[in-house]
Amino acid sequence: MKPNVAAALEALSHLDTTVNPAALKAQSRDFFWYSPVLKARLDGVVADFAVSPATEEEVIEVLRTCYAHDCPVTTRGAGTGNYGQAMPLAGGCVLNLRKLNRVKEIHPGRLIVEPGAILKDIDAATRAHSGQELRMFSSTWATASIGGFIAGGSGGVGSVRWGSLRDLGNIIRLRVVTMEAEPRILEFRGEELARVSHAYGTNGIITELEMPLAPAYDWVDLMLAFEDFPAAAAYADALANQDGILIKLATVIEAPAPALYFQRLKGRVTDTQSLVLLMVAPQAIDAFETFTARRGAAQILYRSDDCDWERGPGLVFEYAWNHTTLRALKVDPAITYLQVRYAFPDHLERVEEIRQVFGDEVLQHLEIMRTNGKVHAAGLSLVRFTTEERLDEIVRLHEEMGCMIFNPHRYTLEEGGRQSVDAIQLGFKREADPKGLLNPGKMISWEDPDWRYERMYAYPGLKDQA
Ligand code: FAD
Repeated sequence: MKPNVAAALEALSHLDTTVNPAALKAQSRDFFWYSPVLKARLDGVVADFAVSPATEEEVIEVLRTCYAHDCPVTTRGAGTGNYGQAMPLAGGCVLNLRKLNRVKEIHPGRLIVEPGAILKDIDAATRAHSGQELRMFSSTWATASIGGFIAGGSGGVGSVRWGSLRDLGNIIRLRVVTMEAEPRILEFRGEELARVSHAYGTNGIITELEMPLAPAYDWVDLMLAFEDFPAAAAYADALANQDGILIKLATVIEAPAPALYFQRLKGRVTDTQSLVLLMVAPQAIDAFETFTARRGAAQILYRSDDCDWERGPGLVFEYAWNHTTLRALKVDPAITYLQVRYAFPDHLERVEEIRQVFGDEVLQHLEIMRTNGKVHAAGLSLVRFTTEERLDEIVRLHEEMGCMIFNPHRYTLEEGGRQSVDAIQLGFKREADPKGLLNPGKMISWEDPDWRYERMYAYPGLKDQA
């Protein structure tokens, strides 16, 4: 079917639409450039038009109209994804949900919110209302939307305590609109959530979310320096295993990355020091100090509740998760990253084996987190990029050594995930998006069911307007 984009745009022109080239380019990109592989392939991607609906009714009108004119629709929250998730590979319409941003209801332990609400604004509203906060958030808290976090993210600050978004209980309910001749509104709970959670908007548009809340605290930010990386990793892992000490972040960054890339720490951290970044609840500080004194070997470089620096470092979580990579990239554009799963129980041994093989070509950046109640590590390793072939070889060697890679140098769900078809998401796409108009090119099992994953998938419909 040949899209009739002009007719779709004409029919939607009474809504907040734009064809301004600069605005379109800005609304067609995310942080794909973290990956030199994606940058080489997606830099010219741009939509034909963007529309910013203000209500669910307007979302439905956009979907109904684009369905009638076979016009692809790619949803955008705040465009802070890293894998080109919100980029319209086939052009067409960008459905920008920034105006659908109301915090609708706040109750003890939960909230009802629209998808375009920014994580920081949500926390401000729930803290003011009843001293509550989101359980977890991406470190892009200040700019990312809750809809984009659920549809494109995986976990983040808080995952050391609550696990990841795919863990039961971390999403309560999702309201979803389908892409059919007459769009339907569906409500998902429990098992059904996996249909659209982390589905990149390929099979439905989330128009309302019900999310769990936790008590809000004035978290104490800390940076601890260690001369020995394995000791730093073991300390962070042991602290996260302390059931009585409430923390929201435990990050380990291998020397010399902090000295090289954390410019706000210039002169305060040496190139032999690895850092552990923490967020500790104020009521847990005594226990934290006792635990840390027992273990020794750590130098407290910074703590937000006792700092005489002329200019503080800012929020500690903006040195963690994929902010670590951003800071490194700003200093050295040759840096890229990997996403490694170091699974319980031998996660720390795996990290050491990887360190022995790659040396400073791959610097370790660990996010200590929980999965099924077990503390382990997610690796967002900093990689010195040379060639795509070498990057693929580094990925292959990690996998041969038993470390699963969620490849951030791919734009499809399957390659960025577990290299396999997600039958639940594919099944729902067949029902909810029968023409395959939602975010084309991002679900291989829809585009090419016989695909074998032997090389990087290249979406044939990629419209490159470079
Ligand atoms: P977008 O990028 O706009 O969209 C993400 C995906 O969701 C796209 O596929 C889009 O089509 C889809 N989508 C958006 N809204 C909807 C909707 N309402 N319905 C259906 N589909 C929708 N990610 C993490 O998980 N944890 C981190 O800690 C983290 N740290 C980061 C740090 C930096 C510096 C950067 C650049 C990125 C980081 N990310 C992280 C990635 C990204 O910031 C987060 O996943 C973020 O929450 C995405 O929200 P967004 O609004 O920007 O989504």
